[in-house]
Amino acid sequence: MGRYTGPVCRQCRQVGEKLFLKGDRCFTPKCAIEKHRAAPGSQRPSRRRPSDYAVRLHEKQKVRYAYGLREHQFLRNVKLAQKQPGITGQYLMQLLERRLDNVFYRLNFSDSRAQARQMVMHGHCTVNGRKVDIPSFVVKAGDEVGWKPASMEKDFVKEIKETIPKRDVPRWLELDAANLTGKVSALPEEQDIGATVDSRLIVEFYSR
Ligand code: SF4
Repeated sequence: MGRYTGPVCRQCRQVGEKLFLKGDRCFTPKCAIEKHRAAPGSQRPSRRRPSDYAVRLHEKQKVRYAYGLREHQFLRNVKLAQKQPGITGQYLMQLLERRLDNVFYRLNFSDSRAQARQMVMHGHCTVNGRKVDIPSFVVKAGDEVGWKPASMEKDFVKEIKETIPKRDVPRWLELDAANLTGKVSALPEEQDIGATVDSRLIVEFYSR
């Protein structure tokens, strides 16, 4: 199944939460969630209590939409997390946070993860000085991410440099705004993810 190319606000409406998929618009009153737009296809809210399956599916979809992953990509991360010792849900969220496209987004180099993914795929990004064009590349503590020297000359990168910082940078990342680089100072903890996610429900969804 291909990548979702429909209206992204529909995904927020479906899960009933802001997933910040559309850059600056998400911080304006034009946001569909701010306008209290109903979930797609529903005329009026259901009075029935959602089933356990529906609750788990909702949590899984919320995270999958937020990171812009297809089902098989998301499942691959779940399987990787299941092989690790410790708490699977926490490791899953850590894996997703450490994706290169997410790191670019978290460093405010892009307005959305979709835009960050495009920048990475177009070969503008480096990890420890080497070009990496794989959005799912997982960074580790100590890595330094930045831009290719040729990309630094491009107008859109100069514009990013002038407007940064717009949002807070999570504490597991260090931003050098002057040089437009970022360092992964530690691995992200659950409280650094900045979203209300119950990762336990996601693990339970795949453990059926
Ligand atoms: Fe979601 Fe942003 Fe659209 Fe609001 S504007 S519904 S947060 S994508």
